Amino acid sequence: MVHYTKIPHDTVSFMLLEFWMSQRSPWSSKAATGWDMQEAAGRPNVFRPRTWRPTTVVRALTLAGMSVAVGVLGLGALVLLDARSDAWRQAEQASTNLTRALEGDIARNIHTYDLSLQGTSVALSQPGLDLATPEVRHMALFDRAGTAEYLGSVLVLNPEGTIVANSTSLVPERLNFADREYFRVHQERADAGLYISRPYQSRLRRGDPSIAISRRLPDEGEHFQGVVMGAMRLAYFQDLFSKLDLGSQGSVTLLRRDGTVVARHPFREGDAGRDLSGSDTFRRVSASPSGRFVAEAPLDGVKRLYTFRHVGDLPLILSVGVSTAEVYAAWWNKVSSLGSILLVLCGATVALCLLFKREMLRRLEAEKALTEAADRLSVMAATDGLTGLANRRQFDAVLDREWRRAARNALPISLLLLDADFFKAYNDSYGHQQGDRVLRGIAACIRSALLRPVDTGARYGGEEFVVLLPDTDAVGAWTMAERLRDAVAALEIPHAASSLGWVSVSIGIATAYPQPGQLPDPLVEEADCALYGAKRGGRNRACAATQIPSVLPATAELTQRQ
Ligand code: GH3
Ligand code: MG
Ligand code: MG
Repeated sequence: MVHYTKIPHDTVSFMLLEFWMSQRSPWSSKAATGWDMQEAAGRPNVFRPRTWRPTTVVRALTLAGMSVAVGVLGLGALVLLDARSDAWRQAEQASTNLTRALEGDIARNIHTYDLSLQGTSVALSQPGLDLATPEVRHMALFDRAGTAEYLGSVLVLNPEGTIVANSTSLVPERLNFADREYFRVHQERADAGLYISRPYQSRLRRGDPSIAISRRLPDEGEHFQGVVMGAMRLAYFQDLFSKLDLGSQGSVTLLRRDGTVVARHPFREGDAGRDLSGSDTFRRVSASPSGRFVAEAPLDGVKRLYTFRHVGDLPLILSVGVSTAEVYAAWWNKVSSLGSILLVLCGATVALCLLFKREMLRRLEAEKALTEAADRLSVMAATDGLTGLANRRQFDAVLDREWRRAARNALPISLLLLDADFFKAYNDSYGHQQGDRVLRGIAACIRSALLRPVDTGARYGGEEFVVLLPDTDAVGAWTMAERLRDAVAALEIPHAASSLGWVSVSIGIATAYPQPGQLPDPLVEEADCALYGAKRGGRNRACAATQIPSVLPATAELTQRQ
């Protein structure tokens, strides 16, 4: 539990007053060192909250403003980076969906075609087919699937590679396809299953680029019986791929699993049939059933995001590529518009902060100069120009304040009135300028003799000085008077016109215990009387008022001031 010491209200006012005095009084010997509370009032020191210097506040505010601007810029950068990730994610998602849709379409068409081939193969093995009329035989061998738009002829080749049945004519041409790759594959391998050939120029359709989808006819014992094949025009793939919107640099490639390009969009002469088996891209698409990666295309050198998928159980791989530059194109537009706006706004904010700082520092500088000038003026207005001590007006104010404070706190207050001896004669002998130097010397003695900040020395007028000693009784005042007299004497300034031979001062001392509502005038009068007593007594001496001065009753004006 924390215990607080309660400070009475009037004590706080007192302390604040003391503090103000210590900061303001240029005549006090300790003015520059501030108020020592323990010495002044015997009270414990108090905590004073730390106040920030205005320039520090302005710099901190400027820094805070600039930090906010930089923070907004950072936030904008984060938002843009997030938008970049979003653009990439969307491209990945769109590519994956597209690849799945294309793969499904191609696989379904090829399987439909394969079903036709299998139907032909089954029909060929039916007994009695040779006895049927050519029309019936044709209807039994070929269904309507073979007449679809992108499909070429379905052919039945005998073991020598010669056409024995053609879906497009009742009487097949006597052409031989024993040189075709698909024929040789089936001829050599009974387990080739559904085979998809490399692209070739169709001999039946005047060089139309096509691929063959073929199956080996069921063997009779160990004997190869021939091949049933259907031609699929590459136009099917080109038309399918060309309907896609993949940007100006997107690509779709259909590959065989040995790396041969079957079809590619955009179409370029010579791409079909090209062998990519040695490329890094092919190695990556053949390594797993599906996936995605970024690479430079071996065919055109464009950097793309590739999404690939093996086409069902067929020996084909489909790859969709979108240019990375196009993936980020919209994002870059956003970066350039939003980024430039953010940069301009943040730059403007930083510039405004710097302008604010410059302006505020300029104003603070001007304010400081004004305050210093005002301080100098107020010091000048309260200072005696010759000696640097407080002037008469300032002394009157301090006397009034200290008198009332002494009355409030029931403390004694003493006044010393000093007068240079035979000073007219000194001026006459040594000149007024030398006389001024002597007055400055006496003032210096007063300054160095005052050890407490609350003691005030002032030039009362002419060659007369006063020293106000709050909280000082008659004994203390006497001690101080003697100290001052000794100090002046110790200057040992020659004064031929003085009976002593050097400059000296006479001092009148008065001490009072003021009561609330009383005026300080009698204190001065008593000190004056005491001074004349010192003069009469032979000068170079101090003389105290014989009794505590009587005090005047309060005037209406004083009561109001209090
Ligand atoms: P006493 O010992 O009785 O005080 O004699 P005194 O000559 O000092 O007293 P008096 O009042 O006759 O003369 C005061 C002189 O102080 C008159 C004037 O020449 C001188 N004086 C007053 N003000 C200044 C000042 O600012 N500079 C100089 N140099 N002299 C001053
Ligand atoms: Mg005088
Ligand atoms: Mg004099």
